[in-house]
Amino acid sequence: MGKVFLIGAGPGDPELMTLKAARALRSADVVLIDELVSRGCLAHARSDARVVEVGKRGGCKSTPQAFIEKLLVLYSKEKIVARLKGGDPFVFGRGAEELAVLQAAGVEVEVIPGITAGIGVPATLGIPVTHRAVARGVTFVTAHTRDGSEPDWRSLARSGTTLVIYMGLRNFERIRQTLVAQLGPDMPACIIENGTLATQRQAIATLGTLSSEGFKGPALIVVGEVVRFARATRAERKAA
Ligand code: SAH
Repeated sequence: MGKVFLIGAGPGDPELMTLKAARALRSADVVLIDELVSRGCLAHARSDARVVEVGKRGGCKSTPQAFIEKLLVLYSKEKIVARLKGGDPFVFGRGAEELAVLQAAGVEVEVIPGITAGIGVPATLGIPVTHRAVARGVTFVTAHTRDGSEPDWRSLARSGTTLVIYMGLRNFERIRQTLVAQLGPDMPACIIENGTLATQRQAIATLGTLSSEGFKGPALIVVGEVVRFARATRAERKAA
């Protein structure tokens, strides 16, 4: 009987993976890797490990979740499997579903948490998502729900917490307009794409002026007073 490590690989930069994740990867015979995970993370895998790419991205061609789960159960019968997921496996990552399937199949699973994009990506700009002077907390929310329903933007806006919106690019304009109505056009907001990677780009503005033009994702939308703390990235400071 094998084992599955359900691993959070962090938001992008391979150095943001944990030591525990790297150690689990080294022990794996098979690595199942999501599209969002940097290939640089594979530097920690054994050279003889079988690497299976299970690309999944909203809208694009993807491996059906049921097939990924079948593969996990199959390989885990006799192999050590590293299931590498972007960010943290339990934050909008369907890690819970994979864990449930594996548990039902009697497979041993160890969950290794990772830095979720919602914390690690704003941090690259120096945005403290729960700065106590201006935010009561932080809310991670996805704009993309299973049944197509919308989050209750009005109560989210009233919560006094920073909003970190995952998978919000496609509905950006609708979200922006709804939030302007609740929080006003002057509320600081930003979009950060490919956070922590060399290809990172961002737009820092207010709800009234922020535009998603030119962004393809993966990207986060951050809304709240904490966005005022955003500073230039190292690359931008160098170029300036
Ligand atoms: N489990 C992951 C989230 C998976 S959902 C985590 O904890 O981070 C995928 C969404 O996460 C993307 O659509 C995007 O909104 C966000 N995301 C992931 N990596 C990102 C990155 N490097 N930069 C910006 N957003 C990112």
